[in-house]
Amino acid sequence: MIAKKMQNYVKNSSAIRAMFEEGKKMAAMYGAENVYDFSLGNPNVPAPAAVKKAITDLLEEEDSLVLHGYMSNSGYEDVRQAIAESLNSRFGTAFGVQNIVMTVGAAGGLNVILKTLLNPGDEVIAFAPFFGEYRSYTDNYDGVLVVVPPDTQTFQPNLEEFARRITDKTRAVIVNSPNNPTGVVYSEDTIRRMAAILEEKEKAFGTDIYLISDEPYRELVYDGAQVPYLTKYYHNTIVGYSYSKSLSLPGERIGYLVLPDELTDAQDIQSAANVATRILGFVNAPSLMQKVAARCLKEETDVSYYDRNREALYGGLVKLGFSCIKPQGAFYLFVKSPVEDEAAFCAKAKEEHILIVPGSSFACPGYVRIAYCVAYETIVNAMPGFERLARSYGLVK
Ligand code: PLP
Repeated sequence: MIAKKMQNYVKNSSAIRAMFEEGKKMAAMYGAENVYDFSLGNPNVPAPAAVKKAITDLLEEEDSLVLHGYMSNSGYEDVRQAIAESLNSRFGTAFGVQNIVMTVGAAGGLNVILKTLLNPGDEVIAFAPFFGEYRSYTDNYDGVLVVVPPDTQTFQPNLEEFARRITDKTRAVIVNSPNNPTGVVYSEDTIRRMAAILEEKEKAFGTDIYLISDEPYRELVYDGAQVPYLTKYYHNTIVGYSYSKSLSLPGERIGYLVLPDELTDAQDIQSAANVATRILGFVNAPSLMQKVAARCLKEETDVSYYDRNREALYGGLVKLGFSCIKPQGAFYLFVKSPVEDEAAFCAKAKEEHILIVPGSSFACPGYVRIAYCVAYETIVNAMPGFERLARSYGLVK
């Protein structure tokens, strides 16, 4: 018999993944061009050509024993140094090799840092709607996830409710901007106010509260939106980054954590994260991909591709009477379900071969997430189905 905890995980297994599997089945049945799969955040822009070049060059140039070998659990030092310098030049920070730990994507990074920080019963705060895996990652280390309810007018973090939920057990706060699933970018003013609350609470409780910035979508922004670099606003900030979206490499599992020297117990945290990487069984982030990342620090994905999709989907759905805020970043649209039971709406969309994810997966029922990291044609071809849905709910006559 499998472990009790696993029984729960299996039972509540990600609706997103379930939808993705369903999409593959439907594509086999109806033909891929007749299924409009908006379920998964799998980038549809190919990795930059420089990634392929880096891989082939590395295979030619590097000693294969080094390239494919074990290294420090935190990653290759030259790679970590290169990443630190890149961050410093972009954000005016002063990181060095000791501040970077290479990780198995953002997911690996979050698990490493939560393993490093959490004692059983410690509370981790997340703002609804949030990436549903935060709940499992927190539970992996017997932490308790505390949810701040959403401000559905703006989907900016609800700071009053946030302040109310911080206790002497609060160990960490996870923020994600640009946000999955809303596409919202937290403004500098929001960050300043959040930092002030955290500082005040640290003083009041005599505790350390670590702010974890989960930012796989940092570079995916539109209309010139600015994404503040959070380590500059609050001393106990940890950044989790990933190349999954920015270089379209989700299957390669590569990212890093930033553990600034300003953290309370910084050195302990840096060495504990090194050990956590090992004992969680990652051992180290994929070696070849670490080197690829270091060679591609200046590469960018084609944001204009996602922007075109954003305009087409947002414009199309609003015209049909659906209601949602216009995303400033990432590649998701978070749409109000025309009926309270958004799972019923998702089921009805499925009849139109449109696959979308219920907001309950993000602790925000009554909404659905539509991932627009798809081919432009998928959006265009799905519109008649969206229109039939809108008519059936009386959104358009
Ligand atoms: N955090 C957020 C907000 C995400 O949306 C995702 C993936 O979609 C992840 C973390 C995990 O990303 P990675 O592939 O880097 O593990």
